[in-house]
Amino acid sequence: MTRKRCSRREFLASAASAVTASALLPTPALAQSAPRVVVVGGGFAGATAARSLKKAEPRLAVTLVEASRTFTACPFSNLVIGGLRDLKAQQFGYEWAGAEGIQMALATATGVDPQARTVTLDSGSALAYDRLVLAPGIDIRWDGLPGYDEAAAQKMPHAWKAGEQTLLLLRQLEAMEDGGVVVMSAPANPFRCPPGPYERASLIANYLKTRKPKSKLIVLDAKDAFSKQRLFQNAWSDLYPDHLEWVALSKGGKVTSVDVADMTLVTDFARHKAAVANVIPPQKAARITELAGVADATGWCPIDAATFESRRVPNVHVLGDATIAGGMPKSAFSANAQAKVCAAAIVKLLAGQPPSQPKLINTCYSVVAPNYGITVAGVYQPVNGVLTEVQGSGGVSPIDAPRSVRAQEALFAEGWFNTITSEVFG
Ligand SMILES: Cc1cc2nc3c(=O)[nH]c(=O)nc-3n(C[C@H](O)[C@H](O)[C@H](O)COP(=O)(O)OP(=O)(O)OC[C@H]3O[C@@H](n4cnc5c(N)ncnc54)[C@H](O)[C@@H]3O)c2cc1C
Repeated sequence: MTRKRCSRREFLASAASAVTASALLPTPALAQSAPRVVVVGGGFAGATAARSLKKAEPRLAVTLVEASRTFTACPFSNLVIGGLRDLKAQQFGYEWAGAEGIQMALATATGVDPQARTVTLDSGSALAYDRLVLAPGIDIRWDGLPGYDEAAAQKMPHAWKAGEQTLLLLRQLEAMEDGGVVVMSAPANPFRCPPGPYERASLIANYLKTRKPKSKLIVLDAKDAFSKQRLFQNAWSDLYPDHLEWVALSKGGKVTSVDVADMTLVTDFARHKAAVANVIPPQKAARITELAGVADATGWCPIDAATFESRRVPNVHVLGDATIAGGMPKSAFSANAQAKVCAAAIVKLLAGQPPSQPKLINTCYSVVAPNYGITVAGVYQPVNGVLTEVQGSGGVSPIDAPRSVRAQEALFAEGWFNTITSEVFG
C-alpha cells in the first residue's frame, strides 16, 4: 500500500480543523511533511512562541535558536541593582525545551535568506523554515550618544540587558562613598520598558536613602513625560525628597554626550560629574532584524498587527521589543501576549486559514520601594493595521491609594514575575 504524502498546508488544514490538536495522532508520513518553524531568540517572546506553537500543533517541527545558555530576565533586575534581590533569581535555562518537543540550537543566528527560507548560524550550519519568528529583543545604538560605546559601558553601565551589566552597576553603587552623586540618563521614546528607568531611579534612591544617606541621584531625561509619571512623582516626593532629583527635557535634561574619562554626562546647559553613572542609551531592534531586512529606517520592525508577520519580508514574523507595536509598550508582558497571538496565527496561516483578530493585554508593574508597587494596564487590538489601545480598557493604579494598596500591588508584581517566568521558562 502506498501512503499519499500530504503537503504542509494539507497537513495543517487537517490539524486546524481538528477538535483539539492533541487528539491528532502523528503518522510517519505526516511527520515527514511537518512544517518547520524556526524561532530566533529564547527570551520572553521567543520561548513563549516556541512553546505555544508546539502546544497548538504538536506535529510542527519547532527549532528555538538562542545565543546564550542562560537567560537573565530584565523584569525585577532593578531590585538587584537596589540591593533587594539576587541576580540568580533572574536566571533561567532551556532544559525544558527537549521535553516540550522543541529542538534547541544554542547558537547565534547570523543571517536570513528569505528567498531560500534559511537561517544561518554562527556554527556554520543553516536551518530551513516555512515560517520564521524573530524575537531577538534590543541592541544598544552604539552610535546614538556621542562618547558612549562598548568600552564606555564598562565604566558607565547601561544595565539595560540584564546580567553582567546589572552586577557592574550594583558593585559601583556598593563601592561609592557616602555623599557621592549618582547620575542616570533616560532616553527618548521608543525604548525597552517605558517605566523601567523610573522604577530603577526609585530603587537606587531607596538604596541611597537606606545605605548611603548623604548621597543623591540625579535623573537626566530626554523626555518631559513618562509612564505612570504622577504615581512615580508622588512616591518620590513622599519617599525620596532628599535623594532623587528628576530633570525633564524642558529643564535641560537631555544628555547630548558623555565624557567617560571625566565621568561626566553633558547636556546643552551643564556638565554633570558622577561618582556612579547609569547611562540608558538609545536602542534599536537587535542586529539580526537588520540582517534579515525586517527593520526599517527607524531601527524597529513594522509588523501586521494581527499576525506579527513582517511588513517587509514575507513568512517572517517579528515579536517583542524588536517590533513597532503601535500603542503596546515594549514589555515582557507584551512580548508573551504577542507570541501567543503569533503562534495561533502561524498555525492558521500554514493551514491556509485566515488568522483571527486578536485582543492583547499588557500590565506593567513597577516596584518603587519594598512593599510599594504601582501598575499600568491596557488592552490592544488592531485598528487600521495598528495595535491600538481599546478606549477605556486600562489605566493606572489609583493616585491616592493607601499604602496597603501599594503593598498589595508589590505582591501582585512578584506573583506576576513568578507566573510568567514559570510559564515561559519553567
Ligand atoms: C530594567 C528593566 C526592567 C524591566 N521590567 C519589566 C517589567 O517589570 N515588566 C515587563 O513586562 N517588562 C519589563 N522589562 C522589559 C522586558 O525585559 C522586555 O520587554 C522583554 O525582555 C522583551 O522580550 P523579547 O523576547 O522581545 O526580548 P528578550 O527577552 O531580550 O529576549 C531576546 C533573546 O534573543 C536572544 N538573541 C538575540 N539575538 C539573537 C541571535 N542573533 N541569535 C540567537 N539569539 C539571539 C537574546 O540572547 C535573548 O535571549 C524590563 C526591562 C528592563 C531593562
